[in-house]
Amino acid sequence: MLYCPFGKTGTQISAVSFGGMRFADPADINASAALIHYAHSKGINYFDTAPAYCGDRSEDIFGTALRGLPRNSFLVSTKCGRASGDELRRSLERSLQRLGVDSIDFFYIWHLMNPADWDSRRRGGAVEAALRAREEGLIGHLLCSSHMEGTALGQVLAEDVFAGVLLGYNVLNFPYRRAAVELAGQYGIGVVTMNPLRGGLIPQNPQRFRFLKTITGDDLVPAALRFNLSHPAISSALVGIATRQDIDMAVAAMEEFSPYNSAQLQQLQDNTREAFSGLCTGCGYCLPCPADIPVPKFMDSYNQLILSGGKHQAVQDRFNMHWRISPELAHRCIACGACEQRCTQHLPIIERLAELPDKTASA
Ligand code: SF4
Ligand code: SF4
Repeated sequence: MLYCPFGKTGTQISAVSFGGMRFADPADINASAALIHYAHSKGINYFDTAPAYCGDRSEDIFGTALRGLPRNSFLVSTKCGRASGDELRRSLERSLQRLGVDSIDFFYIWHLMNPADWDSRRRGGAVEAALRAREEGLIGHLLCSSHMEGTALGQVLAEDVFAGVLLGYNVLNFPYRRAAVELAGQYGIGVVTMNPLRGGLIPQNPQRFRFLKTITGDDLVPAALRFNLSHPAISSALVGIATRQDIDMAVAAMEEFSPYNSAQLQQLQDNTREAFSGLCTGCGYCLPCPADIPVPKFMDSYNQLILSGGKHQAVQDRFNMHWRISPELAHRCIACGACEQRCTQHLPIIERLAELPDKTASA
């Protein structure tokens, strides 16, 4: 296993980390805990969980597994979403108790949506409470996770509050987030990427993404992971693990790891444009919208519909779990056409917006 320094935290984390949001049968705590032990035996030392993952069972699963491992052999992270200072404290204490540790190595202010959300978290006292907990030793390092566009997230990181950041980054959405990765690197802030396989959509669409194999000579999963880790600011790719095969595949991808060279990266970037034919790249050029519709988030959710082969549940999950916005916002569209004129992919945005509420209502 490859280990990388995680920003200025002084820790070395495994280049593949274990995301605890996809256990196959979370009700079977012992089988799920055994999966964590298997990953640990393969060299994975960074384990990520959160309250509410897997029907709120994930932290208990990790607690069961981690109690059986030497404390200095793993690093664990959990999170707290939108909360007041008091609520964050209660959430943290519950996580400590469930995970069976005295200190959370990496504690995330979870899911920052936009600059206004960041501002309201600060004003609500959550950041202050987290920093106090860090002084008490209940938290090792304070980090944030976010789905914000790269430049806006970079401004949050510039405030020097966070030691690390967890963000969605993969061979498909990197233009949208790359600015944040690069700024984090400049500030010495550790970067862990989530969703490196785009929620499984990359391996599920081998034809569309065959260019990954052609250019790199790697299979799809190793190619997608190596793409992330080829960026020098990225320390680890967080992979949602459901089976031993997931672990084996991710660990194998790190054997004799070498980053892609600049020619390969340029080719990947060029080919991504073709793979995105008919898809939103998340570039954000369609904004602003006079009706205040977050068009890139809606078009990203429509991507899910295309890439999943029309599965309404996939779109609904994207709205509910990832973006946390209501598809009904699409009804605000006044069909002014401004976004379509600016869209770099020439997408039929108005038509797709009209479709999306139905695609989720009947999921
Ligand atoms: S067409 Fe609709 S979504 Fe696009 S900019 Fe106008 S109001 Fe916004
Ligand atoms: S809708 Fe078009 S312009 Fe807007 S983010 Fe997607 S690809 Fe870019």
